[in-house]
Amino acid sequence: GSTLGVMGGGQLGRMFVHAAQAMGYFTAVLDPDADSPAGRVSHHHIHSDYLDGDGLARLSKLADAITTEFENVPAQALASLAGDRPVAPGAQAVGIAQDRILEKAHFTRCAAASGVGCAPYAVIESAEQLAAVSPSLLPGILKTARMGYDGKGQQSVHSAAELARAWEATGRVPCVLEQRLPLAAECSVIVARSRDGQSVHFPVQRNLHKDGILAVTEVHEQVLDAGLARQAVAAAVSVADGLDYVGVLCIEFFVLADGSLVINEMAPRPHNSGHYTLDACDVSQFDLQVRTLAGLPLVAPRQHSPVIMLNLLGDLWFARGSNQQVEPPWDRVLALPGTHLHLYGKTEARRGRKMGHLNITGADVAQMRETAAQAASLLGLTDAAA
Ligand code: ATP
Ligand code: MG
Ligand code: MG
Repeated sequence: GSTLGVMGGGQLGRMFVHAAQAMGYFTAVLDPDADSPAGRVSHHHIHSDYLDGDGLARLSKLADAITTEFENVPAQALASLAGDRPVAPGAQAVGIAQDRILEKAHFTRCAAASGVGCAPYAVIESAEQLAAVSPSLLPGILKTARMGYDGKGQQSVHSAAELARAWEATGRVPCVLEQRLPLAAECSVIVARSRDGQSVHFPVQRNLHKDGILAVTEVHEQVLDAGLARQAVAAAVSVADGLDYVGVLCIEFFVLADGSLVINEMAPRPHNSGHYTLDACDVSQFDLQVRTLAGLPLVAPRQHSPVIMLNLLGDLWFARGSNQQVEPPWDRVLALPGTHLHLYGKTEARRGRKMGHLNITGADVAQMRETAAQAASLLGLTDAAA
């Protein structure tokens, strides 16, 4: 049988490994952590740094095709592996997704056709660019161009003086300043694109963030106006086409108070907001990652149930005010019909750490929401199923 390799051993890699193994593939995981969530369930686990020549050589020897689950995998490592076998997504697309400056330039090029642009922004890489920032971008959010996730690397700024201090605090690394927009909602679209340029997509997902981290994703025909949903899908497909992307790509959008759509950022891999596809769709985002990597046919996914996904952060493992780790009441949650628990096998719970997710499906939206409210209340997720 052939072996599919993945750079990164986190929960996304673990769910990729599950999907690949279900289809009969062997798997190889490269991760610096000797006991990573994906490494633990994989046939092969290469314990090495992402740029380590020996680790890359071992992965290269084992794997017939290689993907990534880790957004900040060095693009040069992907490029070095791509000589001898399919690597998807490619180094160029990953390199663009890793850098907000390149990413926004690509979105701006696509906007000419799709009509969906970015938030007004300025690139700040020098003191001159800092001084030239238009006051119309304030209040704004200063984001480091590279390495940010879950809102890390972002600072809210209200004045030119605050902006200067904030950029100083980054160590003067390349940044973008974005105007702070009035958000009515946030949503995302997951596209899977094959080597021959065919693409399929999942329905538009509505996302709720808390403290910069995804908390809830809800997906059914009522989450977003149908016209906006079509616009988001068209914009997502044009971004993937423009990159000649191969693999699974997630695009995040803002819906503004005036009903217009703005493109926020992309992730060159399956995405937390797509975990609902494991239980509410006939193929999951990880199945499509396997198919695009292995060169298997792509089929349009069909959602068969309305769904809410609740992210399970490490905070849930700490009883109110206590520092003792306590397992949440899974037996009571799983007694509710339509609950699907996914835990990532992380041994230690930490606040803000993604430990798992709970998908809640139902026969109809009202019943699914009722169950989700009960599950959220059992877990003490007060603002989850609003
Ligand atoms: P992720 O974990 O999704 O990769 P990230 O750290 O890359 O997150 P963004 O997606 O850029 O960061 O921003 C995080 C959240 O901050 C957004 O989902 C949104 O709620 C808020 N946000 C970001 N940019 C803006 C903006 N220009 N105006 C208003 N809110 C914003
Ligand atoms: Mg991001
Ligand atoms: Mg984001």
